[in-house]
Amino acid sequence: MKTVECVGCGGQFPEFDGPVHRYMESSPGCWAAFGEVLSREYSDPTYFEVHRLSVDAYAVQHPGLPSRQSIQSVGVHLIRLCLFLEHGLSAENANDAMLKATKLKHTFVWLEPPTSLGQFTVADVVKTGTVQAHKSAVRAWAQSAWDAWLPYHDIIRTWLSAHQGTAPVSVSASDRMEVK
Ligand SMILES: [Zn+2]
Repeated sequence: MKTVECVGCGGQFPEFDGPVHRYMESSPGCWAAFGEVLSREYSDPTYFEVHRLSVDAYAVQHPGLPSRQSIQSVGVHLIRLCLFLEHGLSAENANDAMLKATKLKHTFVWLEPPTSLGQFTVADVVKTGTVQAHKSAVRAWAQSAWDAWLPYHDIIRTWLSAHQGTAPVSVSASDRMEVK
């Protein structure tokens, strides 16, 4: 089957007509490959630890055009990649972190996507044949997607620290003394 380059991630996928996501712009073949990866991950709980990395990697490799939704999607998923890859966030804590990041998403701005969005794509994941191979392909994919956004890492870290500031601040004993 003839392949075509995805407008988002730049990966090669079979060429055919089919549905695509509303704002995560891709080729139909790429969107179908992502659907296959997701259904594999939903089919077996042993995929749980990498499932969110797959979602994050796909979202930041398919930024689409500037819109409120695409800006917020890229921002939130870059923040979560930063938490996973630079702060060792566990899959168990990911929802909490996502909720906090989502609270500040209205402050995010459009980041002009880098020319290359990474050397690994969902094409490298969909072709794997075992759970272990799938997991290591997702990790390589997520890392390359995060690395591709290098020019914006400082901005993402700023957004991340801003959202951490929304967490309850612990009160020290001396502070409590002043509360009347
Ligand atoms: Zn793609």
